Amino acid sequence: MTATNEHYFTRAKHSIPGGVNSPVRAFGSVGGTPRFMVSARGPYITDAEGRDYIDLVNSWGPAILGHAHPRVIEAVQAAASRGLSFGASTPAETELAELVRERVSVPESVDGPHRHAAAAPVEKIRLVSTGTEATMTAIRLARGFTGRDLLVKFAGHYHGHSDALLAEAGSGVATLALPGSAGVTAATAAQTLVLPYNDLDAVRAVFAEHGPNIAGIIVEAAPANMGVVPPSRGFNRALSQIAHEHGALLIVDEVLTGFRVGSAGWWGLEAASIVPDGGGWTPDLVAFGKVIGGGMPLAGLGGRADVMDFLAPLGPVYQAGTLSGNPVAVAAGIATLRAADAAVYARLDAVADTLSTEVSSALSAEGVEHSVQRAGNLFSFAFAADAPRDYAAVKAQEGFRYPPFFHAMLSAGVSLPPSVFEAWFVSAAHDDEIVSRILEAVPAAAKAAGAATPPA
Ligand code: PLP
Repeated sequence: MTATNEHYFTRAKHSIPGGVNSPVRAFGSVGGTPRFMVSARGPYITDAEGRDYIDLVNSWGPAILGHAHPRVIEAVQAAASRGLSFGASTPAETELAELVRERVSVPESVDGPHRHAAAAPVEKIRLVSTGTEATMTAIRLARGFTGRDLLVKFAGHYHGHSDALLAEAGSGVATLALPGSAGVTAATAAQTLVLPYNDLDAVRAVFAEHGPNIAGIIVEAAPANMGVVPPSRGFNRALSQIAHEHGALLIVDEVLTGFRVGSAGWWGLEAASIVPDGGGWTPDLVAFGKVIGGGMPLAGLGGRADVMDFLAPLGPVYQAGTLSGNPVAVAAGIATLRAADAAVYARLDAVADTLSTEVSSALSAEGVEHSVQRAGNLFSFAFAADAPRDYAAVKAQEGFRYPPFFHAMLSAGVSLPPSVFEAWFVSAAHDDEIVSRILEAVPAAAKAAGAATPPA
């Protein structure tokens, strides 16, 4: 007899804290038993009981081509057959670095003064293994380069789990309703100044008070870890201006958006499409993760050459990794980026358009107050009539409506992120038939959301 998810969860809890290796996987905020997965292919993910789900988590972003894309698997198998890890440089690492630089270049459509203002943000890139490492290195580098200690971040933004970045973070920290994390020293927390998102007055005020001591601002290019909350037009550009006026750096976190919302990430979308009122800005450092590794542990930190050259071995800021630039992960990244062409991004946009519109209609049909939040092909639904613009508004929504919605979809064979604070992730493997099957499940889920009552 096949063992159940319940069996695996119970067994896991004996040996693994909470039974999971990353907190949101425990289904804490939606309740019920997490599914233990054994395989994934195309639009589907299959649990230990042999049940297939249409996957709208997609490994939290990396799987833009769908799971186990043949070209990626072939590249990984070929690389693995040559050896798993060398602890030395490989030609393929430079190929991936060049591929990133090529993609994150100023689009042809940008000309005149904006072409100069939106200079290519990645002159050099260092490969690491996780998004957490990329942002952790970014802030150390900003501090080393500027000789300053303070860091500005925004409430509800998630940049991984390094000490300095956990204050009022999104993603699992938001899901568990934690203000930060135990174990982060007061001294570290005091060096992170947390501001409300989309609030330039707050940014100006903090720089007026602490400007000479601020090393940098770190911001999600388009936040998607408190649900999706897109930046106001011109917000990123204003951040870049304010930071630079004060000799601080702008660190843009594209771990989630990079190579997912478009070929050149969110930066590419803004620079290309809403110049002059939004584009024309260049981060000093950019963190990549997720799609860049095609589902393998790989991430990167890119940026201005003079800043990047502050890293060891050229500069005084130390960073290293046994598995950095791992050959199998690099092979997956190169294959994924090469396969993610214009047709893939067009498909992701089309699927996001259909799902966001149709789910919204179904919620409206049940009289459920909600707003649809979009950032390119990333989207989520907030159970609030007015689209939240910051973390306080996100937290004020009727979040209790999400668990029944989630479970109705799961019972119908559609796997959504197990938290209202996460975006939905579409893939190019979501063809019309898969989209129809997702939509068939939505009316019952919308009804369940409408019938939900607030916790006593
Ligand atoms: N930054 C952003 C915007 C993220 O969404 C994440 C992960 O979800 C991270 C950083 C951390 O990346 P990782 O989980 O690979 O450490």
